Amino acid sequence: MTRQVYLDTSSTTPLAPKVREAMLPFLIENFGNPQSLQHQVGARAQGALLVAKASACALLDVGEDQLILTSGATEANNTVIKGFAARYRHKPHHLFRTAIEHRSVTESCQSAHRLFGSTLHDIPVSSSGGIDLVAFEKSLSSVKGPTLVCVMLVNNEVPLRLPVKEMAALVARYGGYLHCDAVQAFVREPISMRELGVSSLVLSPHKFYGPKGIGLLLLAEDPERATPFEPLLDGGGQELGRRSGTTNAAGAAGAYAAVRYVTQFRDGIVASMLAAQEVFCEELRRLDELLHFVVPPNAAVPGLVGFYIDGVNADALMQAVPHICISRGATCSTGGETYSHVPAALGLPPEVAANVLRASFGLGVSVDDAKYAAAEIVAHSLLA
Ligand code: PMP
Repeated sequence: MTRQVYLDTSSTTPLAPKVREAMLPFLIENFGNPQSLQHQVGARAQGALLVAKASACALLDVGEDQLILTSGATEANNTVIKGFAARYRHKPHHLFRTAIEHRSVTESCQSAHRLFGSTLHDIPVSSSGGIDLVAFEKSLSSVKGPTLVCVMLVNNEVPLRLPVKEMAALVARYGGYLHCDAVQAFVREPISMRELGVSSLVLSPHKFYGPKGIGLLLLAEDPERATPFEPLLDGGGQELGRRSGTTNAAGAAGAYAAVRYVTQFRDGIVASMLAAQEVFCEELRRLDELLHFVVPPNAAVPGLVGFYIDGVNADALMQAVPHICISRGATCSTGGETYSHVPAALGLPPEVAANVLRASFGLGVSVDDAKYAAAEIVAHSLLA
């Protein structure tokens, strides 16, 4: 069998055995609906989940009433952005977003504009990932009415970290709310909403060795500072009335266990990312001037490399080496976009942006795997 190397952890990660173990009881003997408190089976499920939730909340530095479960980060971003716009639909209100947000943010803003008349504002990002905070403050100060600013902490396609804390301080000064997509950050660094000063924040457990189909939406402790939103889903009023629907109990247990898992093992995860990434890039550099990094690989965002190779079509290369699991742009954008908006926003022309590849690292990828993967890419690029 051809040797396979998985370099797509920004897309998803495998379940950690400890996480799977935490989920299984909720799929088998502890199957009750955690809202069915009138009998023992429901109450048992609820009791076990509450214990797990309490320990995850302590690690996330939030109270239990600050955490809302959703079906994923996509739903959480939709909820906050469209829910905010719905809440203020009867008066002028503003949505800001950086040029490199995930599509669940950018598309939600577009829908909010279409459905609720939100005024949209773009925050440019320079080719080196900088945000002009003076210009940002100027545009914040010029708008009147409720304002939500969407800024991701770590990008999913290129190794960029955005100045969320500094921006949150500015947004608070002008009475607005900052919503942070921290989906790609949490596997790399501990996160405290309190420290960042943000009004809401989303995490996606399947990016940190938890299950797919569950998301964590965190809201600021002070209800006055938490992003206000109308719920997206109406129904039984679960999740403190903010997100109806029967709790995905196994998913929730997996999410809480993944928070514990990554908190315990993050240092090792980051160290293995850095070691593998270094060898991968070193091997790729055999391509000399044919190789370009969209943003130079760096320790601030370990485990993520965005690159293109002169004369190499990204799709053709991926087809030639299907055992090297890398991606072109974000996975969520593969349904029809010819190129990703992220490298384009950083100044690359569309024909180059279309051929940007992403390799992302994590547990289970050894230095030797990384070297082999890059050698395969180099060999097939030279054939192209
Ligand atoms: N935001 C970012 C930055 C992401 O990378 C992703 C996943 N690709 C999402 C949001 C959506 O997360 P989910 O898969 O949980 O819907």
